[in-house]
Amino acid sequence: MQYVSTRNKEQKCSAAQAIAQGLATDGGLLIPEVLPKLAPNGLKTMADMSYQQRAVYVMGSFLDDFTASELSMFASRAYGKGKFDTKEVAPVREVDGNTYCLELWHGPTCAFKDMALQMLPHLLSAALVKNEERKTVCILVATSGDTGKAALEGFKDVDKTRILVFYPKDGVSDIQKLQMQTQEGDNVGVCAVVGNFDDAQTGVKALFSDEELRETLAGRGFFFSSANSINWGRVLPQVVYYISAYCDLLKMGKIQKGDPINICVPTGNFGNILSAYYAKQMGVPVHKLICASNRNNVLTDFIKTGVYDRERPFYHTTSPSMDILISSNLERLLFEFTERDDEAVKRYMDQLASEGRYEVSEKVKKQLDNQFAAGYCDDQGAAETIGEMWRAQKYLIDPHTAVAFHVLKEYRAETGDQTPTVVVSTASPFKFCDSVLHALGVEELAEGTDRIGQLSELTGVPAPAPLSGLAGKEIRFTDVTEKDKMRDRVLEMLK
Ligand SMILES: *Cc1c(COP(=O)(O)O)cnc(C)c1O
Repeated sequence: MQYVSTRNKEQKCSAAQAIAQGLATDGGLLIPEVLPKLAPNGLKTMADMSYQQRAVYVMGSFLDDFTASELSMFASRAYGKGKFDTKEVAPVREVDGNTYCLELWHGPTCAFKDMALQMLPHLLSAALVKNEERKTVCILVATSGDTGKAALEGFKDVDKTRILVFYPKDGVSDIQKLQMQTQEGDNVGVCAVVGNFDDAQTGVKALFSDEELRETLAGRGFFFSSANSINWGRVLPQVVYYISAYCDLLKMGKIQKGDPINICVPTGNFGNILSAYYAKQMGVPVHKLICASNRNNVLTDFIKTGVYDRERPFYHTTSPSMDILISSNLERLLFEFTERDDEAVKRYMDQLASEGRYEVSEKVKKQLDNQFAAGYCDDQGAAETIGEMWRAQKYLIDPHTAVAFHVLKEYRAETGDQTPTVVVSTASPFKFCDSVLHALGVEELAEGTDRIGQLSELTGVPAPAPLSGLAGKEIRFTDVTEKDKMRDRVLEMLK
């Protein structure tokens, strides 16, 4: 199967090239030329499979230059014992009669990014071999918290790879910082940048486009690649858990073959909910995809009006992984909703870059309206939802997940739609102890990592081992750099 650019359908490459490259050379995103469909009995067949087998089944239909035995090996390494703390990998929990929660934080860094970033390194290393690439790939990451740690954990000690992560010195939570500073592995580097997330990201982008740096590093046997969600190798592993959730509901007897469900996703860069859309395109019966935003509600407005306008204030919220104004993966949805009109997509993206806004056609608006619903929730609403969920269900959720539950509640009140709904839970509540403790009415917080124990004691819910073990770990990375010195750090680290 070939992959094409959203900005030029004539630009084609193989799956292995798409994964190694990340972005199309014209700046567009790579997409399969044809979206595969599940076999008529595919969902039933998969209902009796393990998560790892489901991953092989689904991913195999997109990655025809990888063999089934390769994919099986990757799936067992990515999702096997010792990586995830439950054998279901992505368990579905019943919250009430028609609401289910898909928990995506049972991996090594306790956020949903693990679902893809445990798989991507295997896909990427194999892709390099297939492409006869001799150089070592260096993954450069700018992170606001969750992606950096998940990428480090995924790429640590993977053959022929290096990974360098830059995070804003004062822009991540104490727990997130400690997670990165204590990272193990011989091929990893972590460095704080004086500045905010935008400074780190702008710095990393400048490194990617620095021709001279690229040449110097090529001489030393390195080339750069990216692990963020524009890479198809991150979107695809996410399609698996949506299909898996439907199979689990079938198996639990909660739905019958063909019954529609809704899926409600806390959204930032639009990568996670886009994967749900692909699951639907493949044949999972989905009625509405509900896009939940925090106060940075650019997507809510877009889905309701068809106007994407990034010219608005940026807010720091208690769901920081959704604090984003440019949702890159929306480009892939636009490609589908314009019936793969690459010129229209390019026009929208050019307008976004030059004017900060674009308005889609009536045809696209109609599709948005048919398939999506959207809402948003501020910090107070999220805190109230955490409290309500704890009191009513004894279910502890993080602020990102709370945004989704809040938006679902409003959606149901507005529409009366009672379709069984899967709410996606994207992080362990123990990753955001401060906000969760406050939401539960605690005013005096313990120091640093002691808050993990404090939340656990208060609720009786055990903290995930990778977080409760943090306090005893050796700190390995304390480097701090000025933003204009990032290039020097890269040259030092890639000797
Ligand atoms: C990254 C992240 C999100 C947003 O996911 P997108 O794919 O960017 O929409 C939501 N919640 C958490 C906890 C995250 O880490």
